[in-house]
Amino acid sequence: MLVVMERNTPERVIQEVVTRLSEKGFEVHRSTGVTKTVLGIIGDTSDLNPDWLQMMPGVQKVHRISEPFKLASRSFHPDSSVIKIGDLEIGGDKIVVMAGPCSVEGRESITEIAKQVRKAGALILRGGAFKPRTSPYEFQGLGEEGLKYLKEAAEMEGLLSISEVMEINQIPLLLEYVDILQVGARNMQNYSLLKELGRIDKPVLLKRGMAATIEEWLMAAEYIISRGNFKVILCERGIRTFEKYTRNTLDISSIPIVQKLSHLPVIADPSHGTGVRENVIPMAKASIAAGAHGLLLEVHSDPPSALSDGFQSLYPHQFEKLMKKLDIIARAVDKTL
Ligand code: PEP
Ligand code: MN
Repeated sequence: MLVVMERNTPERVIQEVVTRLSEKGFEVHRSTGVTKTVLGIIGDTSDLNPDWLQMMPGVQKVHRISEPFKLASRSFHPDSSVIKIGDLEIGGDKIVVMAGPCSVEGRESITEIAKQVRKAGALILRGGAFKPRTSPYEFQGLGEEGLKYLKEAAEMEGLLSISEVMEINQIPLLLEYVDILQVGARNMQNYSLLKELGRIDKPVLLKRGMAATIEEWLMAAEYIISRGNFKVILCERGIRTFEKYTRNTLDISSIPIVQKLSHLPVIADPSHGTGVRENVIPMAKASIAAGAHGLLLEVHSDPPSALSDGFQSLYPHQFEKLMKKLDIIARAVDKTL
């Protein structure tokens, strides 16, 4: 249930409503906008009489949220959320590009790629250290060593970093080495992991599961937010369909849909979304045109020798050229790169 307070309601009047609800045992999440405050009541509200709330001073409107996701919904938080990491903002008018190899493969290679992507305009360095591979016989990532190299390379180039967390017990390591924790498609419904990530104070990039509906994806975000971590970035990475020419089908339509349903930033990953290098470029452009706040892109200095996902990794020169085009597209949708 949502309680929309009247414009410019004094703080003490808002607090009074929060206190009355807490006394009844409800958890109250607050969204403070420029002029309006919205209170989200979490818990079983079936016995809560909306008229009781409606009569309280300062209350403008009380309504039940029809969507199953509450705190992730735009009804709860009408303004778009902007996630700040130092000077960087994700979810605003500046497109944020996260680029780098699928996996961190070694100190020298990640340092080289970091230089290349930074030069082309990326702001965040990606690189997996714990890899969810389909086959247990394939490269599983360098673990902590990989995280160390990633951090070193990112810091050397003045970039932020992102890497995947696969298990709860890896969270402390990720917190030590990276700025954003990535939840992979395969873990989107790992609810115990999501709950733990709700307790941390760093942004979480939540990939859409390969067979997840938009609603299921937003419910996964709700798991994180409802534990207190509102810094969730959604990432469309393609869903599995009957199509065989691509690895996945990048659902670009989910970008405007999610933006209507939710206040959370949404970015696209055309690398996993298509799985084919030559298709990554047009789909990256299309994602920005569709309103994505950023991109996650696999770039490798020598894709044929990559230990994972080489066939979908861009060559540095392709990435550089793409960034120039994205700059033009960004301006056409009132953003900058
Ligand atoms: C990745 O980003 O390298 C990755 C494994 O992605 P996904 O979880 O989308 O498959
Ligand atoms: Mn990959």
